[in-house]
Amino acid sequence: LFLVLEGGEGAGKSTQTRQLAIWLREEGFDVLTTREPGATKVGMRLRALLLDKENTGMSPRAEALLYAADRAEHVDSVIRPALERGAIVISDRYVDSTLAYQGAGRELVGDEIKALNGWATGELVPDLTILLDLPVGQGMQRHGRPADRLEAEPDEFHERVRKGFSALAEREPERYLVLDAQDAQATITRAIRRRVRPLLPD
Ligand code: C5P
Repeated sequence: LFLVLEGGEGAGKSTQTRQLAIWLREEGFDVLTTREPGATKVGMRLRALLLDKENTGMSPRAEALLYAADRAEHVDSVIRPALERGAIVISDRYVDSTLAYQGAGRELVGDEIKALNGWATGELVPDLTILLDLPVGQGMQRHGRPADRLEAEPDEFHERVRKGFSALAEREPERYLVLDAQDAQATITRAIRRRVRPLLPD
């Protein structure tokens, strides 16, 4: 079972990833939590390149390719092996982040980004994607000062990203759970459990 959490900055993805993993482990499952970018040795170097404020003005296509490279390494060396041994994998970000940030945010062609990432992942698609939706101003408030190159982008960029995520969820409602990240943490945790429970293997 492959589960993904998506959303903008400060939406609570890492907290909910942790909560979900704690619950699934209590239920007796083998669980692997991971994240993008930067879950592998190669990925850590790509993450540093991608988030370094010195690299302001990086070509959007170069940016998309570096995220895709991080993801290819992530899928091949972490996600697929875990799924093959029967673990539940929970990833903080996956392909939809790229469709939102590099597609909608950087205004690259969505179908091209999709094709690139289909190739990079060997067409590995999550069973469920949980989108934590939060108004842009609020995410930045929760997160504090912009820490990296992407966070330093103007609000218009992050608005496009947010709309990008929502559009993806609307296109594939059966693969998505969309939650209001302004709700209490415990409320969100409960809603996630309710949606994930029927997907669990016996
Ligand atoms: O989720 P996390 O904060 O670790 O993500 C690191 C940064 O990478 C964030 O600023 C996020 O906006 C950015 N990002 C991106 N495109 C992706 C994935 C993440 O711009 N595909």
